[in-house]
Order: sequence, then structure tokens, then C-alpha cells
Amino acid sequence: MILSRGYKFRLYATDEQTKLFGQFAGTCRFVYNLAHEQRRDWWRQFKANTGRSVGFASQCLELTALRADVDWIAACPVDFQQQALRDLDRAFDNFFKGVAKYPTPRKRGENDSFRFPFARSRWRKLNAKWGMILVPKVGEVKFRLTRDIPGTIKNVTITHDDLGWHVVFCAETEVADPPINLRPAVGVDRGVVRTLALSDGTFRDIDRERLNVLDRRARKHQRSLARKRNRSSKRRAETKRLLARTKATAARLRKHWNHERSREIADAFGTVVVEALNTAGMTASAKGAVARPGRNVRAKAGLNRAILNNGWHQFETLVSYKLAASGGRLVKVNPAYTSQTCSVCGTVDKTSRENQATFRCVHCGHESNADTNAAKNILKAGTQPAPRIAVGRPVKREPKRAAQAALGNPGPLGPGRR
Ligand SMILES: [Zn+2]
Repeated sequence: MILSRGYKFRLYATDEQTKLFGQFAGTCRFVYNLAHEQRRDWWRQFKANTGRSVGFASQCLELTALRADVDWIAACPVDFQQQALRDLDRAFDNFFKGVAKYPTPRKRGENDSFRFPFARSRWRKLNAKWGMILVPKVGEVKFRLTRDIPGTIKNVTITHDDLGWHVVFCAETEVADPPINLRPAVGVDRGVVRTLALSDGTFRDIDRERLNVLDRRARKHQRSLARKRNRSSKRRAETKRLLARTKATAARLRKHWNHERSREIADAFGTVVVEALNTAGMTASAKGAVARPGRNVRAKAGLNRAILNNGWHQFETLVSYKLAASGGRLVKVNPAYTSQTCSVCGTVDKTSRENQATFRCVHCGHESNADTNAAKNILKAGTQPAPRIAVGRPVKREPKRAAQAALGNPGPLGPGRR
């Protein structure tokens, strides 16, 4: 199987290079949006005039004509713009297949990037910490080399976010199908106080001190922003930028942590069981607390909760692809009662949970950390042949219908029913 992955590094560009990045990203966005508008508003007229549909090929031809007329569009390499058209083509393709929403125009400040095939580029190592990437028309740009790039690089994206310009290498590696993974299973409880509690009794905690510092800084910028009413002032723009940077730093810290912990857990275990997240509760206020009473209520604001949920979801995503590569699997179970059930005798009683940290079974007296107890229940729910949601496996409905037919009952598709 072929694994395709992105490797992202921070760029240290000169002012001159940064200016060019901005220009090229802007031009690519302009071309993308123009092509988007054509597909959205003019496709009928285009078809009436030419008898063909608007597509990647026709838009590439028009791009050539456009470049002949407009100098500043011609100043940006054509393959950057062709990649933008290809992105748009894929976006529409996904929409027509029903797997994505209708494509939206790209926005300045949100979609600042351009991409080109690696064949037009090359990169070299300066030393253990630094690399150089050749960007067409820009020249060699220094980047912070934090890891190797395995496999064959297919294309390169130059992208901007709140922390600056980055380079993303998209590389493909051919890997053998993983052998059957015989490593043990583990239950993981994601929480507010203990970030991850494992059913083996261990914990993985994110550096909360550091996050609190960033959180306080973000609140400070937020308040300062609220005081600055003049929307066009430079100082307001600067505060806004600082706020975005602080949030992005915290997000990167979380992502890094989730990457490391998911790697460690995917290496040690073959099956990882987690609770299915209540996605409806991710945006709503205290809905997440319904499934787990006393769980989320302490989280301060809706924003905090959204961030937490986002982090939990991120762990799940990252551990799932790592497990897939090692032949393991991620199992999601129903979160109901995992924190109120005794992992030894199975008694369900909410009074067993004495406080945030302690679980003491009212029936058998079993005492343990409340989150470890929950993790054990999660493991049990995911490894016992009980109803569960297995990721990446189609739910088989046929046998049930066949059984109904055998009993002579009209199935859901049988006569007389809709
Ligand atoms: Zn018990």
C-alpha cells in the first residue's frame, strides 16, 4: 500500500522572498476565485457558446489567454496557477460525488498558499538543523529541518498561517501491508484533569502550566482587542495578529503532544479503545456533560470546551492512522456509564464516584483512580463481543434481513412497506 503524508517545516525567508510568497499566493487565490466564479455563474453560458462543460482543461486554456493579457498574472509561474485550478477541479469533483460541500471562494488571510510539483524544485541539507528548498522564481529558502522526509516527494506547498510561512512536502512511501498485530489492547479515557488515563493504570498529561500561560496571554489580547474599537487602526491589527499567534502556538503545542503520545501508544498496543465523542456536544454548551455527568461542567467557557474536544478528536485521528500502519485498530465505544461502572464487579452507581479522582464501588468496595476505572470499562466495552462501533468497517445488515425473511416477517424493504 502507498502511504501519502505531508511534512511541514517553518520557513526562514528573507523580506524579499516573503514579499514574493505573498504575491504568488495572492495571484493563485485570484485565479482560483476567478475560475470558481466561472464555474458557479457562467457555466450555462459557457456550454451554450462552446458546447463543452467548464473543466480543468478548458480553464487551463483560458489561463494561458489571461496570462498573455495581464502582466501581474504572468509574473507568477504558470504551474502554481495550474495547481490552483486542479485544486478547484478536485473540490467540484468531491462536491458532485457528494463527499464535500459546494466549494467556496478562497479568502485572503485564510487561504494563503501555492503549490508546485517537486520536479520543478529540489532541496538540500545545510546541516543537522537547517535545509534549503528551491522555490521557482524565488530562489533557495532556508527552513528549519526537524525530521527526515522519507519516501518520494511529489509536490511542495508554500503556506501561511498565524505563525508565518511554512513549507509542506507531500511524500509517498510504499509500505508492505502490515502483519497481524498481536500486541495487547488498551482502553483510553480522555479527560479534563488527566489528559489521558490508560487502562493499565498509567497517565499521560499535557503540560498544563504552559497551556495556562498561553491561555492567560490569549485572554489578555482578547480584552485588549475588545477595547480597541477603531477597526482600521494599526494597533488593533497588531493586537489581532498577536492573539492569532498565541492561539496558534497553543494549538501547535497540543498537536505536537498528541502526535508524540499517539505514536507511543500506537507502538505499544495493537488495539486502542476510546469513547465515541459526542460530536453534537462539541459545539453546543453543556451537551457533552449529559453522557458524562460531572465531566465537562468544570471546563470554564464554551471555547475551552471546544478546544478540549478538538484535542480529544485530534488524538483519535492521529492514533487511528498510526495504528492502521502497524496493523492495529481503533475501536470506539458508547460512552454511557463508563465513569459510574465498577470495573471489577460491574455495578453501576453514580455515588461510587466519590470525587473527580476517586472511585470507590458501593457494592464491592473496589477502590481506584476514577479515570483508570473508566479506562478499564472502556477497554472491556471495546474488546467484549458487545454492540460497538468499529472504525472503518462496514456495518453488515444483510444477515438480519435474511433472518427476517426466513421467519416470514416483512423486512424493511418488503412488500407493503416503504
Ligand atoms: Zn464493585
